[in-house]
Amino acid sequence: MRKEIESVCILGGGTAGWMTAAALSHKFHGLPLSIRLIESEEIGTVGVGEATLPHIRSFNNTLNIDEATLMKETEATFKLGIEFCNWGRIGDRYLHPFGDFGPNVNGVPFYHFWLRLRALGDTSRLDEYSLPVMLAESTRFKFPDTDYSKIESTFRYAYQLDAGRYARFLRAYSERNGVVRTEGKVVETTLHPETGFVESVKLDRGEVVRADLFVDCSGFRGVLIEQALKAGYEDWSCWLPSNSAMAVACEGRGPLTPFTRATARKSGWQWRIPLQHRVGNGFVYCNDFVSDDEVAEVLLSNLEGPPLTTPKQLRFKTGRRRYFWYKNVVAIGLSGGFLEPLESTSIHLIQEGITELIQLFPTKEFHPADIDEYNRRMGLNFERVRDFILLHYVANQRDDGEMWLHYQNMKLPDSLQEKIAAWMTRGLIIKYEFGVFLPPSWISVLLGQNLFPRGYDRRADAAPEQMLVKNAADIRNEVRAAVRKTPDHRTFLSQIGAASGTAPLVAGGA
Ligand SMILES: Cc1cc2nc3c(=O)[nH]c(=O)nc-3n(C[C@H](O)[C@H](O)[C@H](O)COP(=O)(O)OP(=O)(O)OC[C@H]3O[C@@H](n4cnc5c(N)ncnc54)[C@H](O)[C@@H]3O)c2cc1C
Repeated sequence: MRKEIESVCILGGGTAGWMTAAALSHKFHGLPLSIRLIESEEIGTVGVGEATLPHIRSFNNTLNIDEATLMKETEATFKLGIEFCNWGRIGDRYLHPFGDFGPNVNGVPFYHFWLRLRALGDTSRLDEYSLPVMLAESTRFKFPDTDYSKIESTFRYAYQLDAGRYARFLRAYSERNGVVRTEGKVVETTLHPETGFVESVKLDRGEVVRADLFVDCSGFRGVLIEQALKAGYEDWSCWLPSNSAMAVACEGRGPLTPFTRATARKSGWQWRIPLQHRVGNGFVYCNDFVSDDEVAEVLLSNLEGPPLTTPKQLRFKTGRRRYFWYKNVVAIGLSGGFLEPLESTSIHLIQEGITELIQLFPTKEFHPADIDEYNRRMGLNFERVRDFILLHYVANQRDDGEMWLHYQNMKLPDSLQEKIAAWMTRGLIIKYEFGVFLPPSWISVLLGQNLFPRGYDRRADAAPEQMLVKNAADIRNEVRAAVRKTPDHRTFLSQIGAASGTAPLVAGGA
């Protein structure tokens, strides 16, 4: 007889806590499982985390959340990718799009043909074969076509949203699904004397909360996974030394861009995330290379409009929890680890943590094989993201600061070293097991930061040159025509009822 889990306690009401509560309350709806979420308004949330990846759409869709309603309530905008400025060399600019660069031809990715064209003296940019890049450049947006024969189907999209409002939206959703919220601060944790499992937590007002399974969404504090269970932390600052960020919101100026921007500076990088009602900005850096005061000055002098908040300082240590799942505690969100937000991956890693937990949902026996598998999967997910982020830093040709030199001389993790080597010899992207970023993402960064391979797939030489030139021109024309047919981003938000003040106020449930 299986001994099913009857109670779950989620500690923390940030993005991680409420995403977990929403998903569990939906997926296990109708089953005898009580879900309780404890959060402390006094402690608050980390208050950043506004740029997402396209996968968040499937998360929202499986919860039956209406897109226009969610976008309106979270002041969200559409996101086609991330623009990187000054990363290879000062003055460089490229967009990492959520989509393809041209079609596959007889199983060969189009970029190999483009590499051949380039060797023949063609000067077209690879971007001209990518609809999402060209849409982003002209600040236009519409939904991808579901007819896969059309060029309009060759991209995906994500959101830029107000994270605080997203958590509030999911809170309302979860409470409608029966999740019980408790306000309070956990001040004590009781472990079982033999198994070491968490038996209960005690709140500041004296209440004791018991559960079979605890999900630690307490942010950087890791109240259960680390403070109580001492699961350990793998410090990755040898590769990604950034340990600080400063965040500030400002008024938006100019057109509403459907992309996030990451601008590399002498000693760190600055983000820009456009929402409907404001622009989120921040600066990520390492204290070894620059002081907090200097960062505040650079950040504030590079805002497009007047600041709406005072800069908020955050400290972190890059890395991952040694065990994401330890005994009867699963750490999801910042309590499980943190990688800087260069590729907007944290909310995605939360989503992965939740999806894997639901797939491997335990019984009261807590089978070690399931726990090991969860830890293996999440470990790989974190490593893949680490390598991808690191690529942006190491593929630099800058000579204007100690930080860039540091990255040029760094010993890379083997997995990344192998990936770059395969690319440089023949333009091959080795596919990883797990890992959110697919070949087009890697290609955009490698080429965007001037790492041109020495060779390409030999099959790309098979087509006669004239035919190749003509086909390439046809693709570029097709992309341009599709761009012309696409409305302006802000206009489209209004058209679908997602602009602030235009959508009906109904949220989904169960
Ligand atoms: C500088 C920076 C920029 C970022 N940008 C992005 C981005 O663009 N995209 C992205 O995907 N991610 C981004 N992230 C990550 C993102 O912010 C987080 O992944 C996300 O907000 C989830 O945080 P959390 O819920 O794990 O933690 P938090 O938001 O910190 O929430 C922790 C919760 O635990 C509660 N809590 C803590 N201790 C106790 C206690 N003892 N008792 C009771 N309650 C307690 C708190 O009250 C709070 O409710 C960024 C992070 C940083 C640091």
